[in-house]
Amino acid sequence: MKPYYVGAHVSAAGGVSNAPKNAADIGATGFALFTKNQRQWHAKPLEKEEINAFKKACASLNYPPESILPHDSYLINLGHPETEGLKKSRDAFLVEMKRCEQLGLDRLNFHPGSHLRKISEKECLARVAESVNQTLDQTEGVTAVLENTAGQGSNIGYSFEQLAEIMDQVKDPDRIGVCIDTCHAFAAGYDLRSEESCRKVFESFDKLIGFSKLKGMHFNDAKAGLGEKKDRHESLGKGNLGLAVFKYVMSDNRFRGIPLILETVNPEIWADEIKMLMSFSKTDKSS
Ligand SMILES: [Zn+2]
Ligand SMILES: [Zn+2]
Repeated sequence: MKPYYVGAHVSAAGGVSNAPKNAADIGATGFALFTKNQRQWHAKPLEKEEINAFKKACASLNYPPESILPHDSYLINLGHPETEGLKKSRDAFLVEMKRCEQLGLDRLNFHPGSHLRKISEKECLARVAESVNQTLDQTEGVTAVLENTAGQGSNIGYSFEQLAEIMDQVKDPDRIGVCIDTCHAFAAGYDLRSEESCRKVFESFDKLIGFSKLKGMHFNDAKAGLGEKKDRHESLGKGNLGLAVFKYVMSDNRFRGIPLILETVNPEIWADEIKMLMSFSKTDKSS
């Protein structure tokens, strides 16, 4: 049976090759990182030395590609309503996919996009799919991983239906997947506060998207309430979501073998949060 890859979005300050060590320091069995500064458009190309150091660190600290979930820049909007903004985003996304390819990583997590109230949601979803198609044509081996959003502002991708609508338009079905963020799902109206409600939500997820497409999760509690469409993360058990969903995921084997990543607000307690999550996995009901 595959392991649970539990970790956090760790710092890659000073170079991507520092990220695996930062993950190991908090007892993580998986991790997320930015492969470049997430608030800037441009980045220096990765040096060969840095690439080798990253691969070496991942191998020696036991982080296979399937345990790592790189995240793209916040500036990128693959559903941008305007030609110039769309092109800029597509170019930057291609660079990020290529960086993952260079680093031997097999997936890249991204936020679908925003229509900025200039085009319809449907048009925006189609643009995202076309952006993904163009990028997949120019890269190899890296899966584009759509993240569900809280639905704040003009962001699309807040429902399983919308994620499925993008995926349906992607020509290479093997290289498109999803990442479900628990805080975003809750903020978008998916009740995950009890085992029973989790069962219902993931049943619907399986029907509309399918567990084979689940390439990662973000583990966050929520500062805002159910359906409030606010993207505000909280430490596990300290928000309005509570621990039920994390107990559910950590005792269901369908969530093994993919990165499960904390983006919670207090990095000081990430090690404790990881420990707590791993303790939930020992309550496997099938054993
Ligand atoms: Zn997230
Ligand atoms: Zn978020």
